[in-house]
Amino acid sequence: MYKFTIISNTSCLYLNILSVKGMRLLAELITGDHNSISASRVQTVSSEFKERLKLLDALGDSSYNVKKFFSDIPTNQHFLFISGHIEDELQKNLLKRELSRIDGLLYNDIIIDKIISNLYSHYGVRVFQGNQRLRIGVEDKSQRICRFCGKTMPKAKFKKKAHAISESLGNKGLVCLEECDECNTRFGQTIEQDIEKLLQFQLMLKGIKGKNGSPSVKWKGVSVKNDSSSSVNNDTKTIVLNFENKIAPQNKLELERFLSQDVSFIQEKIVPQNIYKCFCKYVLSLIDAHYLPYFKDTIKWINEDPTERVLPPVEFCQNPIRETPCMAIMIRKHNHMEIPYCWAIINVAECQFLFIIPFCSKDKCDFIDKLSIKEFMNIIKSVMPNLNMEPLCFDGNTPISIENTLNFYIPADFVEGRDYYFVETK
Ligand SMILES: [Zn+2]
Repeated sequence: MYKFTIISNTSCLYLNILSVKGMRLLAELITGDHNSISASRVQTVSSEFKERLKLLDALGDSSYNVKKFFSDIPTNQHFLFISGHIEDELQKNLLKRELSRIDGLLYNDIIIDKIISNLYSHYGVRVFQGNQRLRIGVEDKSQRICRFCGKTMPKAKFKKKAHAISESLGNKGLVCLEECDECNTRFGQTIEQDIEKLLQFQLMLKGIKGKNGSPSVKWKGVSVKNDSSSSVNNDTKTIVLNFENKIAPQNKLELERFLSQDVSFIQEKIVPQNIYKCFCKYVLSLIDAHYLPYFKDTIKWINEDPTERVLPPVEFCQNPIRETPCMAIMIRKHNHMEIPYCWAIINVAECQFLFIIPFCSKDKCDFIDKLSIKEFMNIIKSVMPNLNMEPLCFDGNTPISIENTLNFYIPADFVEGRDYYFVETK
C-alpha cells in the first residue's frame, strides 16, 4: 500500500493507494502524466489540474471526499504532496504555516503558532477524538498481544469491543484491538467505574450518551436526566426531573419552592488513584505499540490493587470545547530527561485534565517533587499562557465520597408551558 498526505491551507487529506492502477491515476491527476514516477512537494492548483479532477469520477462515490478536498482549494493556490501519513498535529500545523507563506496568506492563529513553535522542539503530538473512527493495534486476532496482561490467543480472547476511552464518556469510535476480554471486564468493573462516578454529574448535565443512553443522577428519590429527545436542535437542553416514589410538585409555587433549595448531591465512593490509572490506561490504549516497552512499570501499576503511591499532581480546569471526549498525547522527541517523556490532556464534558504518565523508563525522575513539577509547568505555561489549571491530588488509595451541589436558577418570567411542563407518568 502507498500512503500520502495532502496538506491544503485549511485541511489535510490522507490517501491510501492499493494498486498500481491507482498509482497511475494519482500520477496523472497530480502531474498530468500517468507514467510519471515523481511529483514535487509543492503543487499548484491550476485550471488544468481542476479539469483533471474528472479522472476521479472513474472511482465512483468513493472518491467524493478526495474530489471535494481538491475542489475546495482556490485556483492558483497550492497544496503540499507528501509521501507517508503525517499524524503529528504540530507537524501538520507547521506544514500549513509553510503553505500559508507560499500562498502569501496570513497565518492567523497566533496562539496556535506560539504553541507549535515552542512545543514542537520538545514533543510530538497526536490528538484523538471520540467521534473519530479509529481501530488501534493489529487487526489479525492471532497476532494480537494484550497491552495490559501480555497474553495472546488462545489464552486470551478478543471477542469484545474494547473502547480506547470508556464508552460512557461519549467515545464511540476509538477502539483498542489489543485489549483482551479479561482485562476489558476487569477495567470495566474497577477503574473505569470510578471515572464514570467522578464525572457522572457533568456527563448528565452535558447530555453525553454512553452505552445506555443519557445518564441520570439520583437524589432524594428524584432522578435528574438531560433529555435530548425533546430538543429542537443540539443546543437546547431539557432537564427532566422524575419523582419516582415521591409526591411531585403540582403547581408553579411548589415547583419553585422545590427547585430553590440547595441540593447536596453525594456521589458514590471512588478511589482517587483509580482515576489517574484510568487516564493512563486510555493513553496506553491509544499510543503506537512500539512505545509500550517504556511503560512496563506503568502497566504494572495500573493492574495492581490500590496501593500507597506518591504520584504527580493532575492539573484541572474547565474548558468548554465541543468534541468530547478528546485526548492529546505528547511524547518527548529528545533525551533531555528533565521534562516528562509522555504527558496528555483529556477533555470530557467540559472538564480538562492534564497529567504525566508515571513510572516511564524514559524518565529519570518521578515528577513528584515541587521543583521538577514547577519546571514542567513552566514549559506548559510558556506554551499556553492563558491556561489556568489547578493541581489535584489523585494519590488516594481508599474510597472517598465527593459532594456536588446542584443549584437551579429560576428566572422571574418562568412560564408553564414554555419553560417547564408537568408530565404525568403511568
Ligand atoms: Zn489482557
